[in-house]
Amino acid sequence: MNQPQVDADVVVIGAGFAGLTAARDLGAAGRRVRVLEARDRIGGRTWYRTDLIGGCGLEMGGTWIVPQQTFVSAEARRYGIAITGSELPGRMTWSNRGTVLDTLLPVPPAELGRLEHAVRALLAAGARIDVDRPLSGQGLADLDVPIRQWADDAGLEGDARELLISWLCGCGNASADTGSALDVLRWLAAMDNSLWGMVEASVLGQTFTDGTASLARALADDGGADIRLSSPVRSVRQYDDHVAVAYDGGAATARRVLITVPLGVLQDIHFEPALAPAKLAISKENHAGQGQKIWALARGVPEDLSGYGWGTDFDYVGAMRTLPEGVLLVCFAPGGHHVDGDDPAAVRRAVRQFAPAAEIVATATHDWVHDEWSRGTWTTFRAGQITAHEGHLATPEGRVHFAGAHTAHRWPGFIDGAIDSGRRAAAEILETP
Ligand SMILES: Cc1cc2nc3c(=O)[nH]c(=O)nc-3n(C[C@H](O)[C@H](O)[C@H](O)COP(=O)(O)OP(=O)(O)OC[C@H]3O[C@@H](n4cnc5c(N)ncnc54)[C@H](O)[C@@H]3O)c2cc1C
Repeated sequence: MNQPQVDADVVVIGAGFAGLTAARDLGAAGRRVRVLEARDRIGGRTWYRTDLIGGCGLEMGGTWIVPQQTFVSAEARRYGIAITGSELPGRMTWSNRGTVLDTLLPVPPAELGRLEHAVRALLAAGARIDVDRPLSGQGLADLDVPIRQWADDAGLEGDARELLISWLCGCGNASADTGSALDVLRWLAAMDNSLWGMVEASVLGQTFTDGTASLARALADDGGADIRLSSPVRSVRQYDDHVAVAYDGGAATARRVLITVPLGVLQDIHFEPALAPAKLAISKENHAGQGQKIWALARGVPEDLSGYGWGTDFDYVGAMRTLPEGVLLVCFAPGGHHVDGDDPAAVRRAVRQFAPAAEIVATATHDWVHDEWSRGTWTTFRAGQITAHEGHLATPEGRVHFAGAHTAHRWPGFIDGAIDSGRRAAAEILETP
């Protein structure tokens, strides 16, 4: 049979970690790859900037990794990318609705039994999850409920309940009424059911010494792919023997297309034939990771601040570095708790719930939720989505394949999941005739 003339063997849509990894693997196998990226940069939901807050390197998106994330760790080793470990904080700060507690544990002694019950409930739930298999086939629907409902079903009470709800929302960057408890509990299972491991996987793991951009660049340089920036794809049309892709500024044909755009963005691309109803439905619902990450340079805060709060605007405020001008804080607010990250007064109000004397010198943030190429922060499925849709997310449709962190089983909210998915999708494409 005659093969049609095409511009590339594979067009990869999106130059985040999923797309860059897939392009690298496909290129290494001898395929001609063209990557079409909507933004004017690679890296997607990772974005290392050195042009804000006195020029110190800030990760606006994905940042922390842990050794248990084997895909990203392997890539860092492969390219000799420098990794920095985090220092564990010498103490924790707890904020109960804005009242700062300097106690060892986050609850008063009379409530220690409740805290213990909450920890047992978490570990019991985590022990049921096998992260190496699809979650939807494991009889876990009772956990695929909103975080608040899970806390009630598990009989959590008092401040231990409030702390845990806030912490799970913080992990998911989601609100208590949308985020799936199962998706966050998956973190626990992926860390061998270690509660402390789960804390490390959130903000106390390792970072890229020269930013996530160092690994993104290494992947991009390795594959030899033709990467076109500022090229948002508008349509993907399949024919018997090829696929035609139209993007702003051009068009390309290929034998196979790999889509790596974030979940909520998929609905914006026109597909012929139409996208499978399940994929379109979940894209329209989008995921629950709809919160904020805000950097703040502050004075009047402890250099070792590591604060978890409940009934607070931020669920976490942590000191990352001390600069001559002040302490650099990273702050997270879950979906539904908007803090204006460009307004130092608003950030000061929220930080003061953890450090009452705080003054804010500067802030830096990126609005991933209203960014048309991300429509959210890291993937946290909404309650019920894993049970209803998980099986459809990565299923190829003819010559069109799907990757992106949200299609990974172990770490769908992480850089690791993106790399895992890129590797899986490249292997899938290489197996096709
Ligand atoms: C604030 C924040 C904090 C995070 N913290 C961590 C963390 O500490 N650790 C961690 O491991 N992960 C973290 N993550 C998650 C991590 O960044 C993501 O899971 C991962 O980067 C996703 O990679 P991806 O390739 O699947 O998707 P993306 O990085 O989103 O890449 C998809 C690409 O597709 C492009 N695109 C979209 N639409 C089109 C179109 N129509 N045409 C062409 N291109 C298009 C986008 O511009 C983007 O570049 C965080 C994310 C955010 C936002």
